[in-house]
Amino acid sequence: LANKKFHAQPSIVTVGNARIGSDELVFMAGPCSIESEEQVFTVARALKASGAQILRGGAFKPRTSPYAFQGLEEQGLKLMAEAGKETGMAIVSEVTSLAAVEAAYQHVDMFQIGARNMQNFYLLKEVGKTDKPVLLKRGLAATIDEWLNAAEYIMSEGNHQVVLCERGIRTFETATRNTLDISAVPVVKSKSHLPIIVDPSHATGIKDLVPSMSRASIAAGADGLMIEVHPTPATALSDGAQSLTPQEFDRLCRELLPFANLM
Ligand code: PEP
Ligand code: MN
Repeated sequence: LANKKFHAQPSIVTVGNARIGSDELVFMAGPCSIESEEQVFTVARALKASGAQILRGGAFKPRTSPYAFQGLEEQGLKLMAEAGKETGMAIVSEVTSLAAVEAAYQHVDMFQIGARNMQNFYLLKEVGKTDKPVLLKRGLAATIDEWLNAAEYIMSEGNHQVVLCERGIRTFETATRNTLDISAVPVVKSKSHLPIIVDPSHATGIKDLVPSMSRASIAAGADGLMIEVHPTPATALSDGAQSLTPQEFDRLCRELLPFANLM
C-alpha cells in the first residue's frame, strides 16, 4: 500500500487546512512538551502569526530516563486543543499506548508515532484502525525499508493517511544528537507515494543547526518541517537546547518561504 508501484501519484494528506504532499510547504511547530496554559498559548499565537499551519506538542513523553518529565497527558492535550481552536491551527501530538490513542482522539487532528515506537506493531495497528492522519517518525536505527513496512502496518488496517518524518538516525557521530539522513527524502520519494517531512530539531539536537538543515531538507524535496519552538528555551522541561524562540522561528519562516516556493 505504501509502495509507489501500486499508487504512482504522490499522496496528499490533509490536516486542518494544511495539505501535506501538495505544492505548499507545511510547518509543524511547537514545544517539545506542553508545560502550561501560558506556555502553549504564547507559543501558538506566535507560530500562527509566523505562518505555521500545525501546532505540535508532547503530552505523553517517552523520555530516555523514567525520572525525566513525562508530560501533562490528557490535561496537556486539552490545553493544546484550546490553543489550536483559538488560533485556527491543527494539532499533532504523540501517542504511546492504546490508552493514549483513546485519550487523544477527541483533542488532536493527527497522531504522532515517535521514533521509539516505530516498530510497536500493536500501536501502529491501533492508529491504523482510526480515521485520523498519522505522522510516523523514523526509528532511531531503522532502515528505510523497515520504516516503510511500519507505514504498511498502519495502512493495512485501512488508514492510508500516513506522513513520514525523518528525524535523524543513530550513527557513530557524536557532534550532533542524531545524524540527519537527508538522502532519506529522495529515497522515500523514489519508493513511496507518501509525503515526507523532516524534523531538524531532533535530528541535530542543536538549535543553531536548525536553519541550515531546514534549507537542506527543502532542497532535497521535503514536503514540510517539524520544528521545536519554546517561548523560553532555557527553562524548557525538555529539549531546550534544540528549541528556537518564537522570534527565531519567525526569522526562519521568512527566510524559507520564498525558497520553498522556488522548489
Ligand atoms: C518528539 O517529536 O516529541 C519526539 C519525542 O521525537 P522522536 O520520537 O523523533 O524522538
Ligand atoms: Mn523533543
